[in-house]
Amino acid sequence: MSHDLDRRAYELDRAHVFHSWSAQAALDPLVIAGGEGTRVWDSAGTRYLDFSSQLVNVNIGHQHPAVVAAIQAQTAQLTTIGPATANLARGEAAERIVARAPEGFSKVFFTNGGADAIENAIRMARLHTGRDKVISRYRSYHGNTGAAIVATGDWRRIPNEYARGHVHVFGPYLYRSEFWASTPEEESARALHHLERVIQAEGPTGIAAVLLESIPGTAGVLIPPPGYLAGVREICDRYGILLILDEVMAGFGRTGRWFAFEGHDVVPDLITFAKGVNSGYVPVGGVLISDPIAATFDDRVFPGGLTYSGHPLAAASIVATLDAMADEGIVENARRIGADVLGPALRSLAERHDVIGEVRGEGVFWALELVADRTTRDPLPSADMGRLKNDLIGRGLLPFVQDNRIHVVPPCVVTDDDVAEAIGIYDAALAAL
Ligand code: PLP
Repeated sequence: MSHDLDRRAYELDRAHVFHSWSAQAALDPLVIAGGEGTRVWDSAGTRYLDFSSQLVNVNIGHQHPAVVAAIQAQTAQLTTIGPATANLARGEAAERIVARAPEGFSKVFFTNGGADAIENAIRMARLHTGRDKVISRYRSYHGNTGAAIVATGDWRRIPNEYARGHVHVFGPYLYRSEFWASTPEEESARALHHLERVIQAEGPTGIAAVLLESIPGTAGVLIPPPGYLAGVREICDRYGILLILDEVMAGFGRTGRWFAFEGHDVVPDLITFAKGVNSGYVPVGGVLISDPIAATFDDRVFPGGLTYSGHPLAAASIVATLDAMADEGIVENARRIGADVLGPALRSLAERHDVIGEVRGEGVFWALELVADRTTRDPLPSADMGRLKNDLIGRGLLPFVQDNRIHVVPPCVVTDDDVAEAIGIYDAALAAL
């Protein structure tokens, strides 16, 4: 960090910026000043290959020129306008999103990000059904606000449990099965049995919704086994329960599909989105609402709203992002990279390094589960994970490290050459471990 601007950025951060999910004193943030595509850099010119997509959100890559230009054009025309107005950018953003949704979805409620998308989806489900409880999974993340953090299934829920009506179940995760399963089919059937028994025990007529990440992301890129999501849909239908699928991390290209649930033979009632919809160039999220739920609020007030719902800068960036993703085949690129380049390369990495217990994923959404011992599957200790993370950064790669896993989650625009470079870095860092 030799450049004055980098030093100043660092000092100002440490003096005045309060960071998420951290004890503040020991923080040592990396300074980033610029970026393009899959690369970011500081003012001194140190470059990093971004295989985190930041918080798994920069799907289109950094500084996509069409998205930057659309934000600039909207800024010149009308920077902000209240949510009660009709605005062309907002309408076009909603139209573009609806065009990617399953049949029977025509309305979008825009929020400021993913967590408040979850809040509002839960609110809609409760008002539509007249029921109260929400079932979600251990091993999930749904955001930092009132109900979203209590729906969350990781440690972050525990100090924040002020919302009520939340129940958790275990989902399928064959590598660390809670159900003594040895095949994906067994895992799927037993996880469904467990869900249905919890529904029965909680009182089905009091349950508004089952809320699931289509693919739990932060919890480890847990691809649902065959039949699981369709089975959840069938159980929900039998008990009059709504299904909310959280596509905040998995949606808009990450899996090589527009929505992660496509291909799982399931259509939810509500879909939450954020992150990839505009790659976070302007903060935004939202709820895609199926027609019967939207109709509930035709003549009944929807008791929810936000000053920045459908903010025109966010809306313009969504239109440009989704158009560029379609025109440039960016979702197809994510699918091809996953199937033909990144997936095979990660599997061959696992053949060379015993510390990799499992490789799982699709598209540009992968996890390497690191273990101290392949037989016991004991997680690699956090001190080793910390050393590995620092080593990867030192070798010029921004990793996404969570618990005992490296999530390999580059932008959807990643190239074959980027992957080759990243695999070389992972290989060297794992060998040095
Ligand atoms: N839902 C999922 C699946 C997420 O991964 C996240 C964020 O990581 C959220 C919701 C919350 O989104 P935000 O941080 O934009 O509030």
